[in-house]
Amino acid sequence: MASVELKALGKRFGAATAVDGVSLRIEHGQLVCLLGPSGCGKTTTLRLIAGFIEPSAGEIVVGNKILSSPARTVPPEGRNMSMIFQSYALWPHMTVAENVAYGLRIRRMDAATIAAKLKAILSTTRLDALAGRYPGELSGGQQQRVSLARALVVEPETLLLDEPLSNLDANLREEMRFEIRRLHDQYRYTTVYVTHDQAEAMTTADLIAVMNKGRIEQLGTPKEIYERPVSAFVARFIGGSNILEGKALDAERVSIGGTALRTTGRPLRAGETVAVSVRQHDVGLQTAAPAGSDNVLHATVARQVFLGGYRDYTVVLDDKTEMRATVSADNDIPPGRDVWLSLPAAKCRALMEGNTP
Ligand code: ATP
Repeated sequence: MASVELKALGKRFGAATAVDGVSLRIEHGQLVCLLGPSGCGKTTTLRLIAGFIEPSAGEIVVGNKILSSPARTVPPEGRNMSMIFQSYALWPHMTVAENVAYGLRIRRMDAATIAAKLKAILSTTRLDALAGRYPGELSGGQQQRVSLARALVVEPETLLLDEPLSNLDANLREEMRFEIRRLHDQYRYTTVYVTHDQAEAMTTADLIAVMNKGRIEQLGTPKEIYERPVSAFVARFIGGSNILEGKALDAERVSIGGTALRTTGRPLRAGETVAVSVRQHDVGLQTAAPAGSDNVLHATVARQVFLGGYRDYTVVLDDKTEMRATVSADNDIPPGRDVWLSLPAAKCRALMEGNTP
């Protein structure tokens, strides 16, 4: 196994910049997710690592070997990496066992070694009972397990996954997230995992690199990214936050539509414009003004949806700012009603300067 290091990596397509100075070090055995919205440059970064495309700037170093630079790129087959695609890409005319063993055969391993490795990986990926089936006889989740088994059996130095679960239905997707993490804990390959799904990244990753417009906006553990987003973009993208904007009254209070809101996160300068992030599920919703409590904003219900375990409200503050609140499913308030929002000071995070929406 080896570390993977991206050094000021850049990729332009004509006049468009897809990847813009990405630097990232992934240690041996770590699983790093590249997370971000469509078009932010995740897949291009992964394809650069795989060697399918060449960088316009920067380098990719694996262990102590330069694999990519604008001057020289080692081809994909010379990289000892396995890639797993959204589309599974299994051979339809081969059984599960033949698909999985294919990579061992082309490496000309002897029959006994192939049989032993095949048996072990089919057992780990819980495919033993399906070894004789063809891909067309498998569910989407089973096919994705075959593509995982096929990628792992060749013992790659680096494992690359490109939106591997996006073709699966919601339940299966959730199950496979745990499966991927379980296999990672067992094999500890250096892994780069591309996804636009925050829950998938939170479940699988040691570190998450949140990407925006070809750059890494924040790198951290799932907990750091969730609890201490550095920007409005990260706060919104991870776990649904409201971003409120106001003027600082003193070191900790911000005026939002005339109401003082106590915040946490960093000391404020009186008079500066501040963006405050509050998660939807940290917003309390009442139909009467709570007596004497701080951090309460008046609003009107615009709409609400019942989502089984909870209700998702959209409310409008007096200054016309929209906010979302995720509250108990029993809390059923019709549109048009006055409500009071309680925003606990500990949950109102003042974002870094210059990060107003
Ligand atoms: P998605 O989740 O939609 O796949 P992504 O974050 O993986 O998005 P990329 O596929 O890396 O994004 O694309 C980044 C940008 O580069 C986009 O604006 C895309 O249109 C552009 N791009 C990607 N590949 C090419 C190409 N071969 N030629 C021209 N532009 C490209």
